[in-house]
Amino acid sequence: VDRPLPAPLDYLPPAGHVGAIAAGSRVQVPFGRQQLIGMVVGHAATSSLAADKLKPITSLLDTEPLLDAGLIELLDRAADYYHHPLAELIDAALPRRLREGAPVEALEEYLQLTAAGVAAVAAGEPRRAQRQRAVLTALHAAGGDLPVTELAAQGAGWRAAATQLARHGWLQSHWRTLAPVANPETAAGSVPLAPPPSPAQALAIEAIDAAHGRFDCFVLQGLPGSGKTEVYLRCAAAALARGGAVLVLVPEIGLTPQLVGRFRDRLAVPIAVLHSGLSDAERLTAWREARSGRARIVIGTRSAVFAPVQNMQLLIVDEEHDSSFKQQEGGCPYSARDLAVWRAQQQNAPVVLGSATPSLETLHNADLEKYRLLQLPRREDQAPPPTLALIDLRTQAMRAGLSGAVLQGIERHLGTDGQVLVYLNRRGYAPTFLCTSCGWIAPCGQCDARLTVHQNAGQLRCHYCGHEQALPACCPRCGFAVKPVGQGTERVAETLRELFPQHPLVRLDRDVARSGADVDAVFQAVLSGAARILVGTQMLTKGHHFPGVTLVVVLNADQGLFSTDFRAAERLAQTIVQVAGRAGRAARPGEVLIQTDYPDHPLLQQLLAGGYAAFAASALAEREAASWPPFSKLALLRASSRAPHAALDFLQAARTAAGAPDAVRILGPVAATMARRAGRYHAQLLLESTGRGALHRLLDQWRPLLGELPGARNVRFGLDVDPLDTQ
Ligand code: ADP
Ligand code: ZN
Ligand code: ZN
Repeated sequence: VDRPLPAPLDYLPPAGHVGAIAAGSRVQVPFGRQQLIGMVVGHAATSSLAADKLKPITSLLDTEPLLDAGLIELLDRAADYYHHPLAELIDAALPRRLREGAPVEALEEYLQLTAAGVAAVAAGEPRRAQRQRAVLTALHAAGGDLPVTELAAQGAGWRAAATQLARHGWLQSHWRTLAPVANPETAAGSVPLAPPPSPAQALAIEAIDAAHGRFDCFVLQGLPGSGKTEVYLRCAAAALARGGAVLVLVPEIGLTPQLVGRFRDRLAVPIAVLHSGLSDAERLTAWREARSGRARIVIGTRSAVFAPVQNMQLLIVDEEHDSSFKQQEGGCPYSARDLAVWRAQQQNAPVVLGSATPSLETLHNADLEKYRLLQLPRREDQAPPPTLALIDLRTQAMRAGLSGAVLQGIERHLGTDGQVLVYLNRRGYAPTFLCTSCGWIAPCGQCDARLTVHQNAGQLRCHYCGHEQALPACCPRCGFAVKPVGQGTERVAETLRELFPQHPLVRLDRDVARSGADVDAVFQAVLSGAARILVGTQMLTKGHHFPGVTLVVVLNADQGLFSTDFRAAERLAQTIVQVAGRAGRAARPGEVLIQTDYPDHPLLQQLLAGGYAAFAASALAEREAASWPPFSKLALLRASSRAPHAALDFLQAARTAAGAPDAVRILGPVAATMARRAGRYHAQLLLESTGRGALHRLLDQWRPLLGELPGARNVRFGLDVDPLDTQ
């Protein structure tokens, strides 16, 4: 239905239907006064509804189930684990067109001459109707059978003519499964242009390949450029050679044409690509390619974990630490990375979690020997690792957010044909718009946030609720001058353009991507060397290597150092390592400059001295001492309301309803770090337990009570199991 139901509904089989309808099949059912499409998820011998209230299914849409038993089981298990309605997961798993009733297989309408039609053509019929005659002749010329898509080339009016001809009994229409596009020659096993694997790559490939036919989870750790993708390609080739298919999950913005191109070039099999930028029709086509078994490799973002891949023998999750694998904006907040591990278990297939900076959860599983850690050290033909240095901002003269040391570094690298990458996790021109006279700061009327200055667009924008307004010319309070304060990517790009006018600069962030600019062209400009300076956000840290970049600058490392979010340090370390890893691929080693006010901060010191491994070890020790994940399990109940206190009151009632559960700590309720967003007040209640069992036993009893609590109707609430963000 159009909105997910909290629980499945009971219906009788359609009148006259014999036998059970397979779970995973779509049906049309009466729902109130409407007829809606639903999915059969199971059979029951009895119903809690009275016999006279039970309605029969109107009709069956599928002759075989859309989702196979394995996928239904996976969705069921996920619904259970995340304590979310199964319908929400089915929603995530199915392309919209299928939810609306599109057939499982692509069908195409054909027109076919009948025997009478053949005779009519021979007799020169029909003598007067030009159009009808043209259609008949076209059909005859094509051997008596044509898809309507080709007849449509005859120009308008062919349909009316065909209807007349059908009335005479000269032709008939029928639907056929769309002929699959011819497969390219399958060169399974043979890998053109593949570099010979390094010893470490060979060991990894061997270990993963030896796990074929059974479940095993591997963590493939190696810096960007160490050859993880090479390992994926080799292992995928081996799985294909055995007749299997491969599912590859990548982060939202890591899915680049280059990555897909590497799979295409090296593995000559049909590939289906699934990501959020597809149209409904494209998504349906890609899903069908997977479902029919035609696509042997499916590459996709988060929801592709539900792709109906046939005979899946290998799963790969690239950049497994990436937060885009966790659904965070509505719907069931599942982790595609975690579900991929379940799916591999279910399929008896190995799964590879690849990253330069594995999440602490994953490293912990490797420590426990649940996962097997495979490491790719730097290859001999690779550039030496970049040198990292901290720039102490307290001792530096600053120019528009850029320290003297950084500006000198940029000049030096540009002067010796290097490329420079400047990373700043803040888009827009400036984060604050300030009145120099009365101290007024442009606020968002709907959020507890300041408005960000977007100079190019001449706007102030809220990055939380999307509110936009024109840049005021003067202070609305006192009429004095207002000015942007602080740095965003737009401003840093402007400053660098002024300082280094002879060196072409490109910028990349969500605003650039949204403005319709060709993101791929930006990357190409950097890869070709045409652009010498690249300024951007997080978007730079994914998927792309820039061999010509010799200097990486991290402008505002400090944001992650003092956050109240226990994951902030992990994210900062990951970002620094990932962005540093984009540099110095070729013969020239890279240099990384990190601007900070806290050069003595232990996190930065560890990262510099011992790299990500040293950081991770001490971060894990800290998490253990504080009993944070992965040493405990969390669930977060979030609520929001229009009235300032309704969300907190509701959460207080929820806390009371939980009683004093065994082995689960309940923290809160508290207002969210940014309490007011888009005019709603946000608050949360955190549940923490050292054992998954105790937490889920509580959630099983507690979740169903929430909707009945006083005030439940005045709030929006959602339960997030294993939340990434606990702010
Ligand atoms: P990652 O996925 O870890 O970032 P890639 O697999 O993309 O690394 O490898 C980075 C570059 O190094 C690619 O151009 C790749 O072809 C090359 N490469 C990988 N492994 C080898 C190898 N064993 N010998 C030579 N070149 C290699
Ligand atoms: Zn003012
Ligand atoms: Zn806002």
